[in-house]
Amino acid sequence: MATPHRALRTPTAPAPRPPCPPFPSLVPPPGTDERQPTAAAVLDELLAGNARCTGGLPRQPYVRPTGRRPCAVVIGCVDAPVPPELVLDQPLGELLCVRTAGLVLDEAVLASVQYGVQELGAPLVLVLGHERCAAVAATLERLRTGAPVPGHLELLVEEIAPAAHRTRNRPGDWAEHTLRAQTTWVRDAIRADPAFGAAQVVAARVDAGSGLVSLLP
Ligand SMILES: [Zn+2]
Repeated sequence: MATPHRALRTPTAPAPRPPCPPFPSLVPPPGTDERQPTAAAVLDELLAGNARCTGGLPRQPYVRPTGRRPCAVVIGCVDAPVPPELVLDQPLGELLCVRTAGLVLDEAVLASVQYGVQELGAPLVLVLGHERCAAVAATLERLRTGAPVPGHLELLVEEIAPAAHRTRNRPGDWAEHTLRAQTTWVRDAIRADPAFGAAQVVAARVDAGSGLVSLLP
């Protein structure tokens, strides 16, 4: 005999959800101090934030004061372990983050960085590469084996391959050399572009194990 269906439960009304906090206004309130800090002061704060993060005493999560403009543009990677706001312990909205796999640049990325520097007055651009980057690993695998990569991923390999070629014969960890070469190449490309002349541009790497951010020479 077939097992009788269980009686359907009478649907109950879902519990009311707590209200969302108000969305921070994009318009600064009257009297807001619009002056941006210096690039050096911003960089000091970002490194202090990284020390809070890696020291286990982050201030997150919290949101920036209403109406303030981002103090830095961060060019970062899409890999999940390295959201810049967490690694640098900054309020959500404090950083204008442009994230692409392997820090690959295109016109949309450059335009977004220019918007942050020229229109919003961010005094600092931080190019933030990271250890054990999947896009770097895929590029090295492609160069080692010659195996094709699917679809749009080919663009990533093409853009990261020059950094890999430049460092292939160096002793040590090829992925680490490629990461550093790619990150500093992006920094130098931004520095050389007159569209970003108003900002200080620095490069750094994130340690995959500890999250520690170190500036690159
Ligand atoms: Zn990555």
